[in-house]
Amino acid sequence: MQTVNIDLGNRSYPIHIGSGLIDQQGLLASHVRDRAMVVTNETIAPLYLDKTLAALGNVPSSSVILKDGESFKNLDELNHIFSALLNENFDRSCTLIALGGGVIGDMTGYAAASYQRGVDFIQLPTTLLSQVDSSVGGKTGVNHALGKNMIGAFHQPVAVIADMDTLATLDERELRAGLAEVIKYGFIIDSDFFSWLEDNMDALLSRDPAATGEAVRRSCEIKARVVEADEREHGMRALLNLGHTFGHAIEAAMGYGTWLHGEAVSAGIAMALDTSVRLGLIDEAIRTRGLRLLERAGLPIRAPSQMTPEVFLKYMARDKKVSAGAVRLILLDGIGRSHVSADFDHSALHATLEHFSG
Ligand code: NAD
Ligand code: MG
Repeated sequence: MQTVNIDLGNRSYPIHIGSGLIDQQGLLASHVRDRAMVVTNETIAPLYLDKTLAALGNVPSSSVILKDGESFKNLDELNHIFSALLNENFDRSCTLIALGGGVIGDMTGYAAASYQRGVDFIQLPTTLLSQVDSSVGGKTGVNHALGKNMIGAFHQPVAVIADMDTLATLDERELRAGLAEVIKYGFIIDSDFFSWLEDNMDALLSRDPAATGEAVRRSCEIKARVVEADEREHGMRALLNLGHTFGHAIEAAMGYGTWLHGEAVSAGIAMALDTSVRLGLIDEAIRTRGLRLLERAGLPIRAPSQMTPEVFLKYMARDKKVSAGAVRLILLDGIGRSHVSADFDHSALHATLEHFSG
C-alpha cells in the first residue's frame, strides 16, 4: 500500500492506494469514528458491499443502495440517504462511506456535508476516474434539471481508500475514460509523468496492477498538490479543467451519457492543443505527441459531427468556468506546462471550432 497525504490543515487526510485494501483488516474501520453507513448503488452492491461490511468488523454499520447512473445524481435520490440515516437514528458522530464511482462519491460527500450540518465521510472509489480525480479534493454535490453539479459543497473526506482490485470489474470504456483525466495531469503540470504514460500505456490498458497503482498514485499526488495550493478554485485549481470547457459543451449538447465525461475531455484536450498551436504557444510536434497518447488510450481526438461552432459557443457560454462573461480556456505552453486565460485572440478559438466542426 502507498499513501499520499493531502495537507489542508485540520482537513488533511490520507489517500491509500493499493491492492486488497477493502479487505485489509482494520484499515477501513480505523477511519470510522462511531457508526458507519455505506452508500453504494445497484451495480456495485453485489460486487463489493459484503466485503466492505465484513471489513468494518464490529463497527455498527448499515447500508443504503441507490439507483445507478448520472440521471439519479439528484436531490430526490439523495433524500434516500437522509431517510436511511434518520430511520436508524444516526447522529453527528457517524461516518458515511461512499462505495462506488464519482456519482456515488459526489452524492455521499454532499449528504455528509449537510446531514446534521456535517458528518465524516470516507471515499472508497471503484472507477479509475474516481480514484484519480473525483474522490480527492472535496468537491461534492448533485445535479439539478437546469445544470450539472449546480447544488453542492466543499467537504473533504477523512480518508480515501483506492483499491486497485475493484478495477477488474470495470467496463473497458469506463477505464479508457478515466485515462483521459490521468493523461490530463501530465499535460498540465508534469512532463515526466507524461513520458511515463507514453512508456506504460500498454500496461495500463491491460490493467497491470503495478502500472495502474503507479498511475493512480502520481495522479493523486498532482491533484493533492494543486488542491493544497488552491482548495476553493480561485486560481491554480482551474488548470484541472484542461479540455473541460470544450468537453462540457460536447457532453451537454450530445445529451449526458452519450459521450462519457473522459471521452469528451479527450476531444476537448485535442481542441485546446489546436488553439494553443494557433496562438503560437506550442509547435506542431507537441500537438502530434499529445494526440498520439490520447489515441493510444483509445480516446477520441475529434468532436462529434453534430457539433457546429454555434452549438459549441452556446454551451461554452453557459459553462461554470466562464467568469464575468468571458470564456476562459486552459492553454498549453508545452507538455507539462499550462495556464488559464480569458485574454487570448478569439479568432484562434473560432478557427479551432471551425476546424473541429462536423
Ligand atoms: P459513475 O460513478 O457513474 O460510474 C460509472 C459506471 O461504472 C456506473 O454504472 C457504476 O455503477 C459502474 N461502476 C463503478 N465501479 C465499478 C466497478 N468497480 N465495477 C463495475 N462497475 C462499476 O462514473 P464516474 O466516471 O466514476 O464518475 C463520474 C461522476 O463524477 C460525474 O457525476 C462527475 O460530475 C463526477 N466528478 C466529480 C469530481 C469532483 O471533483 N467531485 C471530479 C470529476 C468527476
Ligand atoms: Mg473531469
